[in-house]
Amino acid sequence: MAWDFSTEPEFEQQLDWMRQFVREEIWPLETVVGELDQTGLERIYAPLQERVKERGLWAAHLDPELGGQGFGQLKLGLMHEVLGTSPFAPNAFGCQAPDSGNSEILAIAGTDEQKDRFLHPLLAGDLKSAFSMTEPQTAGSDPTQLQTRAVRDGDDYVISGRKWFSSNGSIADFLIVMAVTDPQARPHQRATMFIVPADTPGLNILRDVPTMEHPQEEFGKLGGHAEIVYDQARVPAANRLGAEGEGFLISQQRLYPGRIHHCMRWLGVAQRAFDMLCERSTYRFAHGSVLGQHQTVQNWIADSAAEMQAARLMTLHAAWVMDTQGTAAARGDISLIKFYSAGVLHDVIDRAVQAHGSLGYSTDLPLEAMYRYARAWRLYDGPDEVHRQSVARQILRRYTPPPDDVPSEHVPTRRVAAREKFAEILEAVTAND
Ligand SMILES: Cc1cc2nc3c(=O)[nH]c(=O)nc-3n(C[C@H](O)[C@H](O)[C@H](O)COP(=O)(O)OP(=O)(O)OC[C@H]3O[C@@H](n4cnc5c(N)ncnc54)[C@H](O)[C@@H]3O)c2cc1C
Repeated sequence: MAWDFSTEPEFEQQLDWMRQFVREEIWPLETVVGELDQTGLERIYAPLQERVKERGLWAAHLDPELGGQGFGQLKLGLMHEVLGTSPFAPNAFGCQAPDSGNSEILAIAGTDEQKDRFLHPLLAGDLKSAFSMTEPQTAGSDPTQLQTRAVRDGDDYVISGRKWFSSNGSIADFLIVMAVTDPQARPHQRATMFIVPADTPGLNILRDVPTMEHPQEEFGKLGGHAEIVYDQARVPAANRLGAEGEGFLISQQRLYPGRIHHCMRWLGVAQRAFDMLCERSTYRFAHGSVLGQHQTVQNWIADSAAEMQAARLMTLHAAWVMDTQGTAAARGDISLIKFYSAGVLHDVIDRAVQAHGSLGYSTDLPLEAMYRYARAWRLYDGPDEVHRQSVARQILRRYTPPPDDVPSEHVPTRRVAAREKFAEILEAVTAND
């Protein structure tokens, strides 16, 4: 019987160090990031990244033989909860999306040569990467429809198509591109992943798409979402990841742990918003009392606390399943946490904005930015509806239609069976009457 909610003391010390480091060194960066260009950002990050490396917390998501720390998903989850409090923290720890997921892809599917050329420099922080799958003209929630093609030509592949929302694409040194190699194959065996260096002729980055997250048009900065045309971009066959048709298989192995990290990071954001909600409730006076004495606000606080706890336990449980039983066993749990956490944590931030009134809506507080970021949680790595569908399908597999379509719990039918089962006793009782 080994259900245990405790954290090893040595790792708790690491978490304490991370909490202090992120609060003292990263949170201040948030307030000046708009004044910095990519070079300025890198100058600020360089000494911070050194300190993280000295502490043994750099690139913690991969196994030690690949330069990582070999943390399981549970430890990584707890770590991401701390890093999630600021969108700028993961970059100081070498585990920022999409580099962390891409390094997992390279670790799973890369050849020794690909690992030497791309994975090790990526882990060392010497290269940056992007993941280029979503297309403007096809539904990203159903990637079997991808249209970008990779056609074999001698020792090369020639890639043509249009992608967008390739996060960090405009600052990346290489992109992992998902393209169709065999349009006639079964839907999940049509696509293949390729490593495409950013300076490949024919790789044309059109813009970083302005979003709710970054409404002003900017280009070439951490966190941008690039729109890219691949116009006959030619890469050697040695840049193919895995075998032809293995793109989906590899991407699932990357996405499952990534979703645990996302959910835990969102918890970090929501906790920060929750702290602001509670702080505001102690001093803002309206209609005869501070907000915290109005029942609606008390409901917000109680509901938020309950929902965050539920999301946290569900996510850590999914991490535990993954650590103890493997990625496939955690599939259902991961879909569950992806849509549940995205929704409830978004609502916690919404309540904190509401409690702060016009101040919450203003850029004088980080809440409005958190709210804009949170809106994307319900979309990327699979929209809510797709995860709900996946959860429902998996659950429904455990059920079969009842004989003659009579519900198993139908009371009159059960009563007939029960009368047979207990006939003797029922008869005796009736005889006594
Ligand atoms: C901030 C951000 C970062 C991103 N980063 C990357 C990246 O680095 N690389 C990359 O390749 N992509 C990235 N994406 C793209 C993301 O993965 C896609 O937006 C996502 O997969 C949804 O695809 P879509 O936008 O084409 O929406 P669509 O597939 O067109 O879906 C639109 C809507 O249709 C509805 N829908 C879809 N399926 C169903 C269903 N089965 N039942 C009911 N309703 C349904 C949902 O409401 C869904 O939101 C990013 C997106 C965002 C917002």
